Amino acid sequence: MKLDAKLVRYLSSDDYRVLTAVEMGSRNHEIVPTALIGHIAALKHGGTEKVLSHLAKHNFVSREKNARYDGYRLTYGGFDYLALKTMTKRGSIHSVGNQIGVGKESDILIVANEEEEQRVLKIHRLGRISFRTIKSKRDYLRNRKTGSWQYMARLAAMKEYAFMKVLYENGFPVPTPYDQNRHCIVMSLVDSFPLCQISEIAEPGKLYSKLMDLIVRLACAGLIHGDFNEFNLLVSEEGEPVLIDFPQMVSTSHRNAEMYFNRDVECIRAFFRKRFNYESSIYPRFSRDTEREFSLDVQVAASGFTKKHQDELEQVRPQ
Ligand code: ADP
Ligand code: MG
Repeated sequence: MKLDAKLVRYLSSDDYRVLTAVEMGSRNHEIVPTALIGHIAALKHGGTEKVLSHLAKHNFVSREKNARYDGYRLTYGGFDYLALKTMTKRGSIHSVGNQIGVGKESDILIVANEEEEQRVLKIHRLGRISFRTIKSKRDYLRNRKTGSWQYMARLAAMKEYAFMKVLYENGFPVPTPYDQNRHCIVMSLVDSFPLCQISEIAEPGKLYSKLMDLIVRLACAGLIHGDFNEFNLLVSEEGEPVLIDFPQMVSTSHRNAEMYFNRDVECIRAFFRKRFNYESSIYPRFSRDTEREFSLDVQVAASGFTKKHQDELEQVRPQ
């Protein structure tokens, strides 16, 4: 999806009011009735419908006609706009640059603040693939007021930000977390290559040990990354790893903790075997090597990303 940075500044205040009204209305309606949008927006001089067609033209909302009423749905474009607008107001973003990655469930873009410091914007797109099938089942939407991709993508961003913040504050090698709003997070740009792009290294054993130490350190703090692989590790020229991508992190108290831990370990072992022809008989085991020393999982829960949120996310991304 292409983002037009200019639009962040040039939508009129009426456009913004109406777009916000669609978002508010979508908490209770899958398709927000046009009349309700008009009511929430309460434009001084009326004209909600005209503004809505303008927004639809720019793909911020889409018009939906169903048998009972006419209405609009917020699109990812509109959701992106609202998040960018908020983060621009807060000063964590000033301009939006190139897209550097398209993940399965995210877009990664370079952005900058007013001082032209480059940063990374990660836009969660939960549901790009998996949501469609879930939606067709409809089971988990049934009892929810806000049953939508918007809500789930926001949860994924909240989760990632909460974990990144706690890890950062406790001295783990992760990007600096700057901001989160809706389904977006802003973090520092790490000037390193993903491990998957590194074809040769001088001392594979050294990096291997650092990565295993990191897995163990995390577990001793009560956490398992859950997707500890060559795509989610950025390695500097000096061989220092930085860990990214946290939406699937779990607590070491999770019922399947041991399986996740061993899977992370095995992922690194398999990669080093294949890529660097490096194999070591030394590798950590969950039961032996992970004495809990402190509980970052508890800190994360205290930060606002609660057990309830975690459970809701797990329904979309079975752990
Ligand atoms: P996904 O959830 O889609 O896997 P990631 O957070 O792993 O998203 O990011 C995808 C890719 O974007 C990474 O493999 C990495 O190359 C790049 N990337 C993400 N965050 C950063 C960052 N802070 N600094 C530099 N590159 C990053
Ligand atoms: Mg990733």
